[in-house]
Amino acid sequence: MLGTGLIKGMVETARNFVGSYHDEARLTTVQYPEEKVPPKENGRNFPFLVFDGDDAQAGLRCVACQICEKECPPQCIYIVKSKDKKPDYAGKPQLYPVTFDIDVSVCMSCQICVEVCPFEAIKMDQVFELSTTDRFDKLLLKKTDLAKPNTYFHQLHPTDAAEIDARLADEKRKAEEKAKAAAAAKAAADPAKAAAPAAPVANVPPVGGDATKPSPPAS
Ligand code: SF4
Ligand code: SF4
Repeated sequence: MLGTGLIKGMVETARNFVGSYHDEARLTTVQYPEEKVPPKENGRNFPFLVFDGDDAQAGLRCVACQICEKECPPQCIYIVKSKDKKPDYAGKPQLYPVTFDIDVSVCMSCQICVEVCPFEAIKMDQVFELSTTDRFDKLLLKKTDLAKPNTYFHQLHPTDAAEIDARLADEKRKAEEKAKAAAAAKAAADPAKAAAPAAPVANVPPVGGDATKPSPPAS
């Protein structure tokens, strides 16, 4: 019947209105900004950069591959690569971003940057209170504004973060086993070198946000 949906909607509104006086579950609004509804796990707003350990610069997962910059539909990511390298989570020397800016006044929260990143380095934040009268400086987020610890990622998206931590730890373990096997094979081929002291292992930020793990050194 014409108008049935409209009547059903009005009945539901009336039930919520009357019910809200005696049943909290019917109270569908809160007194914002004093009260806030907790965001859903899959809620998203603008991207941020994940780092492991306690040092945002040494632990940044981003290797400045610029895939996200190329794929971002409105082209609101700007990256400048480093000239030198630092070890990534698996100890492999990688470039890092000297500059990493996102213009959030242009970002459309599509999450494509997250989906194309091969290094689990960029994820979606849930902060939405970014209103400002300064369109240019305050909405152009720099690397220092964007870098947030893995523990923060766990708070926002625990399921995703736990799965990624397990996968990265597994990749790191495999890389270490491969390096050990290569060193053993080399030593077997040249016993004279095997007697020489081992080269120092790269100091790598721990994967995951466990504050009990050792802190990485400042870069
Ligand atoms: S969420 Fe979309 S628009 Fe925003 S920076 Fe990522 S790719 Fe670009
Ligand atoms: S965030 Fe990911 S895709 Fe973007 S430059 Fe860094 S590593 Fe590459």
